Amino acid sequence: MRHIHLLILVSLFGGLCGCISTDDQAGSDDQGRVNVVATTVPLGHFVEMVGGDRVKVAVLVQPGTNPHTFEPSPSHMRLIEDADLYVKNGAGLEIWIDRIIRANQKMLVVDSSEGVDLIEAPGPDHNAHESILTADPHIWLSPRNAMIMTDNICDGLVRVDPSNASHYRNNLDAYQKRLRALDAELNETFPKTKLKEFVVLHPSWGYLARDYGLEQVPLLPTEKEPGPRHLASIINTAREKNISTVFADPNFNPKSAEIVANEIGGRVVPLNPLAENYLDNMRLVGEEIAASLEA
Ligand SMILES: [Zn+2]
Repeated sequence: MRHIHLLILVSLFGGLCGCISTDDQAGSDDQGRVNVVATTVPLGHFVEMVGGDRVKVAVLVQPGTNPHTFEPSPSHMRLIEDADLYVKNGAGLEIWIDRIIRANQKMLVVDSSEGVDLIEAPGPDHNAHESILTADPHIWLSPRNAMIMTDNICDGLVRVDPSNASHYRNNLDAYQKRLRALDAELNETFPKTKLKEFVVLHPSWGYLARDYGLEQVPLLPTEKEPGPRHLASIINTAREKNISTVFADPNFNPKSAEIVANEIGGRVVPLNPLAENYLDNMRLVGEEIAASLEA
């Protein structure tokens, strides 16, 4: 009996000690990598593409979470305390950013949206006299914006780790070549399509639409479920334009997308704005939207 107790005690202590020593090393890890925290999965992916093996990246908004209603928890705040660099989306997505900045005053905060030409967020009933303009925060979903965002990320990494500046700039060049190739592909694809309008559940694709001459028709212009009048007007538009696809979003309830698809005898196709592999995902998004515009 005594034996067992002693064993348990030893293993408990072993565990505790292990925990404490890892905690102590956090901040700059044993390989001297830069600790980066990013708001979303695609932003974290951009940081990895530019940072390569010199960065350790953590993401706050995990897959399946709605980034517009996300709030950082105490465990998120602990990640922030160890960070050297925070990469925010900007464009109004992080309404809680002040809490992050207060939690770690030494960390550099990079606004990835700096220099991006912002567009207005779609609203339900636009009042012409309304003077407050809310930006559409879905900036990363256009390869042209992604080039600006990766520029900003590279500048931030160079500032916190100047001795590896050439490493970051080489990675940036290589990745931006791939982004330019994707942009060229999309430029080839969309001007040839018959239709220009595509129906989406959540309006994530405003920048993609702007950059390639398309128009998104959102079912959920706000976080609220759409009313019957809004649904009816979209069903009418879809019938008029011969639209047969409704694009859903895995981070949102698909109910209203299913209702509209049913009414128009069409199908629901999921597009994920927060997928990790940016280039593959954007190619897939381009193919799916283009296919719907040919139908
Ligand atoms: Zn969104």
